[in-house]
Amino acid sequence: MSHAWLSLGANLEKPVEQLANATHLLSANPAINVIVQSKVLKNPAWGKTDQPDFHNIVLGIETSLTPLELLDTCQSIENKMGRVRKERWGPRLIDIDIVAYERIRMDTERLTLPHPHAHEREFVLKPLSEISPETQNWILEQAAS
Ligand code: ATP
Ligand code: CA
Ligand code: CA
Repeated sequence: MSHAWLSLGANLEKPVEQLANATHLLSANPAINVIVQSKVLKNPAWGKTDQPDFHNIVLGIETSLTPLELLDTCQSIENKMGRVRKERWGPRLIDIDIVAYERIRMDTERLTLPHPHAHEREFVLKPLSEISPETQNWILEQAAS
């Protein structure tokens, strides 16, 4: 089993419920155990600011999936929950990003690890400092190197 950290965000239709639904769907996958969940944080939208505030959490999981399989799983949950992809950084029912997967560094068309913006996002760093300060430090180190 490998450890990974997921960032979840929502800003439409009862965001806190969307975060809970997504967490539930992730834990329902037999290849994923949700080990730890941060507090829910409310944040102004990032990148594109003329939209409702986001609610965000970070989850620490254990998984037998590979990084790409985990990305597929996160995206299929987004789709199942009715996310419609329109514009990057636009409003969404649910967004599930892989912040980090073990200490893997990779940069492919579909997947960059650690997440390329994690080190500059308060809504990722703050929950991460609550549940895994070591991972937060590692992400900041990667960005600085
Ligand atoms: P951002 O990635 O800046 O948070 P976003 O979440 O709004 O923006 P999406 O439309 O959800 O962007 O995703 C765009 C693509 O990003 C996905 O199709 C996926 O292939 C790619 N991607 C690259 N690295 C990651 C990662 N670590 N976690 C999730 N998606 C990633
Ligand atoms: Ca995102
Ligand atoms: Ca995303």
